[in-house]
Amino acid sequence: MEINSKKIERTSKFIYFIISMLLCIFLILFSNNIIADMDKLSSKPLREDFENSSLILTDRVAIKKYEDSIKIFDEKKNLMGRAAALAKSNYENEKESFENWIKTRTTIGSPQNDQDVILRAKKLDDFYSIEQEWRKQILGIDDQISELNKLISHHYSAVSDEQERAYKLYLKAYRKYDLYVFLTRLLFAAPILFLGIWFFVKYRKNKYWPLHRGFFYFSLYAFFFGLVPYLPSYGGYIRYSAGILLCVFAGYYSINRFRAYIEQKKIELESSSSERAKNVKLETAEKALLNHVCPSCGKDYILKNWEHSSTVNEKPTSMIADFCRFCGLELFRKCEVCDHKNFIHLPFCSSCGHKNRPE
Ligand SMILES: [Zn+2]
Ligand SMILES: [Zn+2]
Repeated sequence: MEINSKKIERTSKFIYFIISMLLCIFLILFSNNIIADMDKLSSKPLREDFENSSLILTDRVAIKKYEDSIKIFDEKKNLMGRAAALAKSNYENEKESFENWIKTRTTIGSPQNDQDVILRAKKLDDFYSIEQEWRKQILGIDDQISELNKLISHHYSAVSDEQERAYKLYLKAYRKYDLYVFLTRLLFAAPILFLGIWFFVKYRKNKYWPLHRGFFYFSLYAFFFGLVPYLPSYGGYIRYSAGILLCVFAGYYSINRFRAYIEQKKIELESSSSERAKNVKLETAEKALLNHVCPSCGKDYILKNWEHSSTVNEKPTSMIADFCRFCGLELFRKCEVCDHKNFIHLPFCSSCGHKNRPE
């Protein structure tokens, strides 16, 4: 069993702190579970929920149909292109052969009246008109494709209009959801914060203070950090104003406490020294002796060399003042039995064990 009271005090402080922290951590984990369950009660809105899906589907089907038609037209156009290229090369071959032939013909007779020339020129014209015919058909297909493309872009814009409309509704619903989650969390966290502050104010002297302190830490966490993931745009205002209020409150409270303490001390010092001597607690006396201060006014009782120089050449017999120089409280007195000088606010003589009588 540990007897050293200082060590016991230090150990107990440490253990109490650990208890406070553990309680705080478990409360945080517990509240996280509650909050997660609370979130499940309301479902997050989805973008798809606001879209007219059948309308979009109709548009998409139409787009698909037109795109397929364009594919078929493209294939057709390809084939026609090849046919036109063939017709062109036929025409060019024929033209070249005709030109070569006419050159040889020119030297022999008049080309104007020549039946052969007329026949061949007509054949050449036929080749040319075949190529032109293919080109015309290709142009016709191009027109059809561009018509289809217009229809497709019309359907696309219908889809995007619908999506835009749905997105606006979705944003509105999402903001509402955000607000709902924030408010439910606020309703959860605000009373906890108030309770924590109340514990802090009322239960600091209570023997179960370590438990109240754990709850107090938890309440600060719940309010200032638990709300974070769902803070709406003005959530910061709520959080920071609560912080400001808390600081003002804490400042007001502690200033008043200190003032009251100082006032009380003043009143205490006005009462007689024997009255004050009765009120000195053992713990205070112990601390005062350790720090060589008066247990009533807290000022040092060790004398400096120049303070006891009424007889200049005499060596000082004691370095301590028997009475406090500031408040007049008696500090040291000789033991009735053995004459040993004792600090009279401790219960027994340090030399013979006789009871000290401060009064
Ligand atoms: Zn004093
Ligand atoms: Zn004694």
